[in-house]
Amino acid sequence: MQNCIFCKIVRGEIPAKRVYEDDLILVFPDIQPQAPVHLLAIPKTHVATLYDAAPEHEPAFGRMLAKAGGLARENGATEGFRTIINTGKVGHQEVYHVHMHILGGSQPLGRMLSKRLEGG
Ligand code: AMP
Ligand code: ZN
Repeated sequence: MQNCIFCKIVRGEIPAKRVYEDDLILVFPDIQPQAPVHLLAIPKTHVATLYDAAPEHEPAFGRMLAKAGGLARENGATEGFRTIINTGKVGHQEVYHVHMHILGGSQPLGRMLSKRLEGG
């Protein structure tokens, strides 16, 4: 996709530290980290949201999950981490190229949802 910022990162048109890369996925630090360790893992091909996921994307999405633990550990999240994929307006998705947040650090993260939203 021509104007997608994460496709531009894949093509090297926007700079990012390439923490990990293979034939299917790219992993780089989030530009506005929300935790001491905050990486984004993306499929190299453009998929806008998880609503758009199709069987052809299974290898890349599987690779993102299979690599998450090792990448978290290697980058300093040794006691646990959280993976998040935001989808659409309700999920507060800002960049419409599927990305998996990998969040961690030495201290426990906050609760997954605010109290206000729990049960809602
Ligand atoms: P989401 O709300 O799940 O769509 O999150 C999008 C994430 O992309 C945010 O955490 C941003 O900080 C991050 N982001 C946006 N532009 C860049 C960029 N050029 N390099 C790295 N991370 C970015
Ligand atoms: Zn894209």
